Order: sequence, then structure tokens, then C-alpha cells
Amino acid sequence: MAPINVAAPAPRRSRQARVVWGSRVVTVGGDAPVRVQSMTNTDTVDAIGTAIQVKELAQAGSEFVRITVNTPEAAAAVPYIREQLDRMGENVPLVGDFHYNGHRLLTDFPECAQALSKYRINPGNVGKGDKRDRQFGQMIEAAVRWNKAVRIGVNWGSLDQDLLASLMDDNSRRPQPWDARQVMYEALITSAVESARRAEAMGLDGNQIILSCKVSGVQDLISVYRELARRCDYALHLGLTEAGMGTKGTVASAAALSILLQEGIGDTIRVSLTPQPGEARTQEVVVASEILQSLGLRIFVPSVTACPGCGRTTSTTFQDLAKQIDDFLRAQMPVWRVRYPGVEKLKVAVMGCIVNGPGESKHADIGISLPGTGEAPAAPVFIDGEKALTLRGDNIAVEFHQIVENYIEKRFGA
Ligand code: SF4
Repeated sequence: MAPINVAAPAPRRSRQARVVWGSRVVTVGGDAPVRVQSMTNTDTVDAIGTAIQVKELAQAGSEFVRITVNTPEAAAAVPYIREQLDRMGENVPLVGDFHYNGHRLLTDFPECAQALSKYRINPGNVGKGDKRDRQFGQMIEAAVRWNKAVRIGVNWGSLDQDLLASLMDDNSRRPQPWDARQVMYEALITSAVESARRAEAMGLDGNQIILSCKVSGVQDLISVYRELARRCDYALHLGLTEAGMGTKGTVASAAALSILLQEGIGDTIRVSLTPQPGEARTQEVVVASEILQSLGLRIFVPSVTACPGCGRTTSTTFQDLAKQIDDFLRAQMPVWRVRYPGVEKLKVAVMGCIVNGPGESKHADIGISLPGTGEAPAAPVFIDGEKALTLRGDNIAVEFHQIVENYIEKRFGA
């Protein structure tokens, strides 16, 4: 009998871009890990507010942060945002998001062009007719002049209408015309790949080009990226555009991105969540990191295994404890990443009763099995697979918290 294959994401085969700021070089594609990207929703003119949000996103694990550069005032603010981040010791590369007037802003504000580490260019929004090629060319010239990487980001909501019309005409002459969706896929891919080839012809290093073709349907995204990956070896940025809010946006993004990443497609990802009222912007970074971590592509934070609870546990003690531990570990990571190298590999288990509690806890580095309904009020704690002690009384949560901290200090401390 042959052993069962262990599932793993297929290896990627893209070129590698180097996105640089200060002492920080973030590689994308090739053998680099899949990167997490995010975008601010502050007014870029508010340099302090934007710098603070960039820092929050970076601290949550975002390896690039994109900011809107839509007006001369926003372009003028970019160097100040960069300066604020440098003062805070935040080396995260900034990506400028340009539409319509990027050619003018990158020419008129050279300090902005320099302070950014990557430019995002949407070929559908660079101008119409003969202006399109000229204005696209001006942006590529700026990237060459300042040695910046470029993301050519096509979006189905702002697809190059001339190209789409021409492909529709070609389609109408086919003996068996494709359906409109297939023509749209072709237009997205053609727009991205032809724009990249034009940029290379203008002197931009092909390794410094990253492509994206964003759509909002899961099956559409999978269809488009499978074909895009087949047709070129540029590094690819993945994301479902306008994914939506909360559970819907999270699930749709996880479904689409996981399938492609498992096939080895995708070098950077963004989860475009609409924040729910009161929700932190960093939630999109948390979701993106969790997608990569659950696929085994990256490890960002210690994992907390918790059972779902059932009729055997009628109190919420274990839910509270699991959430507290999860929140605590995540909140400490910006400091712990430096102080405790390797701490992100830690596995903690918080289980609700003795049915699976001791077994699951033994598989974790540190685990606790809380008393279920009708069980003796005792919570055995397992460390490195062995029962270490039993907690009792009203302070179980506080004591377990301390045990976790002590374990981290002992195992990962200097
Ligand atoms: S470990 Fe216990 S409480 Fe948790 S789901 Fe399993 S049986 Fe229910």
C-alpha cells in the first residue's frame, strides 16, 4: 500500500522583484515568501494620520502599505509621511496608488516619486487615445529614473474600454463567439501583459514588474489568474477586489486566494475588506496573514487551538480564555518578534472538557483542558506534551496567562 501524499502548495515560478526602502528590502516572487499587503483609508493629505495608520498596518504584519496619491496635495504629503515613518523606525515600503494624473504627480513631485518604493499603475486609468501611451510612458520613466518597482494593476471595474471594445469586435467575427465573461477575462489579461511588455520596452527591468488582474467573483479570479500565470512569469499580486464586509468578505477572499496559492499562483496578497463600523483597518492584515498561515505558507503568530464547545461545556470560561490568549499573543508580536525569535511557531491549546482536551493539549507546546459541565473543577496544564500541573479555583485564566508568558521567556528568550 502506497503512503498517502502530504498536501502542500505547489512551488511558484515567478521572477523576483526587489522593493526597497532604507535598510529594508522586501523581495516579491521567486523564492521569496508570499507577502502581505494592505492599504490605508486615511486622507493622504493628513500626513500624521496616514503615517499612524501605516504603522498600525505594518505592526499587524503588512509588508507593504499602499496609500492613495490622487492630488498635488497628497503627492506633497508623501515625503512627510515617509519621514514620520522613518522617525518611528518603521521601514515598511510605501506603495503609491495612482489613477488618471499619476504621470503629472510623479513628474511634478520628484520627492514623492523618491519617497515611494513602488508605484501602482492602472492601465485602464492612465488616459484615453494617444494620451494613454504617452502618460503610461511618463510613469514608467519615473520608475526607471528612481529605480522603483511597479505594479501594473488591472481591475475589471476600470478596464481599458478601447481594448475591451476591440476584443468584442474580434469576438463577434468568431464562428462561435465566446461569452462576454470570457472576453472580459481576455481583456484583463491582455491589458496587464501588454502593458508590462510596453514597460519593459521602455527600459523598466522586467523583474521589477508585478501584475494583478482583480475581479470580485471567486470563480472569475481563479479563471483569470490560472491563465495569467500560464502566460507570463512576472510576480503576481492576488486579491479579490471589493470583497465586501465581515464574514462574507473574509470567506470569499480565503476561498479564492487559497485555491490559487495552493496551485503556486500568487506572490503577494491583499484582502480588500470593507471595515465594519468600529472595526480596525488592521483586520485585513489579520485575515491575509491567517490565510497564509493556515495554508502552511508563512508563520506570523503563535497558533491557538480551541475546541468549538458543545453541550459538555455550558460555561463560556474556555471561550473567554481562548480569546484572551489569542488577543494577548497577537498584541505582543511586534515586540516579541524581536525579543523572542521563533516565538511565532508556538502552539497553544485551550480545550473545553476532558473528551479531547488532554489529547489536543499534549499535541501543543502548552495546553489547558478546562473542566466541562459536571467535571471536577480542575484544569490540567500540559507543557511539551507532559502534564505539568493542575489549576484550580477562580484564577485559572490569570495563572494560565502567566504560565504561557513564563514558557515563552524560558524557551525563546535570550
Ligand atoms: S473538547 Fe469537550 S467541550 Fe470541546 S467540543 Fe470536544 S467534547 Fe465539546
